[in-house]
Amino acid sequence: MASTRAWILKSRPTGMPDMGNFELREREQEALGEGRVRVENRWLSVDPYMRGRMNDVKSYVPPFEVGKPLEGGAVGKVIESRSPHFKEGDTVFHMYGWRDQAVGPAEKFNKVPPLGVSDEQWLGNLGLTGATAYFGLLRVAAAKEGDTVFVSAAAGAVGSAVVQIAKAKGMTVIGSAGGEEKCAWVREIGADAAIDYKAGPVVKGLMEAAPKGIDVYFDNVGGEHLDAAFATARNNARFAICGMIDAYNGAPQSFRYMARVIAARIQLKGFIYTDYLPEMGDFYRDMGGWVASGQVKSRETIHEGLEATPQAFLDLFTGGNTGKMLVRL
Ligand code: NAP
Repeated sequence: MASTRAWILKSRPTGMPDMGNFELREREQEALGEGRVRVENRWLSVDPYMRGRMNDVKSYVPPFEVGKPLEGGAVGKVIESRSPHFKEGDTVFHMYGWRDQAVGPAEKFNKVPPLGVSDEQWLGNLGLTGATAYFGLLRVAAAKEGDTVFVSAAAGAVGSAVVQIAKAKGMTVIGSAGGEEKCAWVREIGADAAIDYKAGPVVKGLMEAAPKGIDVYFDNVGGEHLDAAFATARNNARFAICGMIDAYNGAPQSFRYMARVIAARIQLKGFIYTDYLPEMGDFYRDMGGWVASGQVKSRETIHEGLEATPQAFLDLFTGGNTGKMLVRL
């Protein structure tokens, strides 16, 4: 029988993970049971939230299990189906990533909506990261035309979508990213200003870019970025707390300006994009339109081959990606 390959969690990391935490294991291809589907994966997503799943702690998603395959977003083609809902050749997205072949019950797979966009978009602007940007900005922070929005990790997948959605909705946008090259791209996709956080204190850059303060902060980073947002928030500012990548590997957070929450009446709200699954229709309508018209542009950093998956994941924590980090099989 043919064999397939999957990345296994070999051990749990302390601090920054490394290649020693992963093992590529060969497995015998399983026979396809009734109601199940076999998919050849074409694109794998690696995402910062996976770092949390490597720890053995209770959270909004269960931890990865040592000795078992890792999971994550993926897009592929159905190559065998024993379900009336799928046929050979269907393009589907699902959560059986980190492997070359996905086998599971039909209800775990979703046919891509017929929007005529390239397959990898379903892991980026039309997938988890685009939906996170859309709901975080427009629902959680209730950002509206005329607002001044600050977004961190603005050259990343979620951040670059936030920049472009905010511009599509008539907001002023300031993005931060590591390095001049990334900042140039953040301006290219529409940001009114970009702050290179590696070149100087974020709070100084933000005060210069938004002398009248910010109405909305979309947080992907935490730490110094969140503190700078506290320092520059206008009265009744809204913060959508999406991620804190600065702390995922154990870096300490400290907040000098946090007490401004009181005087400036700042509202902070954390969220998980799945909170908004019932509203995905709005997201597909708006984002589908912006992607189709070119108003929202997509950029990917692509690693080639299943072997490259852990390195692609590790590179997220050193800024190795511009736009969405993907693995092409
Ligand atoms: P991403 O932004 O495409 O990639 C991560 C980026 O973070 C890197 O490219 C790097 O860019 C930046 N970074 C890494 N370490 C940093 C540090 N210590 N300080 C400042 N920047 C750092 O990843 P993404 O998938 O779009 O995710 C962005 C954030 O959203 C993450 O925090 C993630 O956990 C969160 N998220 C939340 C949800 C939700 O439902 N709440 C869903 C998806 C993602 P630079 O080169 O600019 O440093």
